[in-house]
Amino acid sequence: MKPAIEIRGLQFSYPDGKAALRGVSFSITEGECVGLVGPNGSGKSTLLLHLNGILPEEYPKISNVIICGKQLSRESATDIRRDVGLLFQDPDDQLFCPTVFEDVAFGPQQFGSSEEEVKNAVAKALEQTGLLGSEFRSPHHLSSGEKRRVCLAGVLACDPKVLALDEPTSNLDPRGKRSLIKTLQSISATKIIATHDLEMVVELCSRTILLDQGAIIADGPTQQLLGDEELMLAHG
Ligand code: ADP
Ligand code: MG
Repeated sequence: MKPAIEIRGLQFSYPDGKAALRGVSFSITEGECVGLVGPNGSGKSTLLLHLNGILPEEYPKISNVIICGKQLSRESATDIRRDVGLLFQDPDDQLFCPTVFEDVAFGPQQFGSSEEEVKNAVAKALEQTGLLGSEFRSPHHLSSGEKRRVCLAGVLACDPKVLALDEPTSNLDPRGKRSLIKTLQSISATKIIATHDLEMVVELCSRTILLDQGAIIADGPTQQLLGDEELMLAHG
């Protein structure tokens, strides 16, 4: 099986000098579903922002991010954005259209799908996220859980090869969470899920990566990692 995500010695500091990633390396095979856990500030969101080239602002000559066999570069970035669907931690960073329909349709429209294809992709994504009937509501009038579902619908509508989800269950009620887990189980894309929701990790991810202070502390079978009480307590 080919790797869908390859990260080689990734380091990143924010402009204020704060080192957020200190030499992170891992590889995720096509179709794998991997949990990314760790305390607040450990670098989970920063790592996910590297997967579709939102960070860094300027790509190095030899990038240490390789997605579906393509090394991230200025030339490959458009393709890579198409391959990787990223759900932001904060839904307000992702929603900007006057209606739910337009927001969910935005991605497929950008990728040049026909009107018919866009309509079908939006309908399917709204169904997968339990939002059918909300097409003409304003995203800004929705609850935070509903906003998160609209964001996810926008990502799913693009049918990406890789799903990178940043705290997808935060603000979801128990029913919303159950249905999210079911939806994700039904999608064959490679997944990496940053979360504090260990219950979801156990259900969805056979493998887990534990990050702390910008470094990988452990990477292995979920049962083994989460079962290691000492390790889990030591890293929040
Ligand atoms: P996590 O998602 O695991 O909570 P983050 O990736 O958000 O961690 O943050 C990693 C580190 O980078 C933290 O110390 C955080 O304060 C810092 N950081 C995150 N975003 C920014 C930013 N835009 N500017 C400066 N520092 C940031
Ligand atoms: Mg985060």
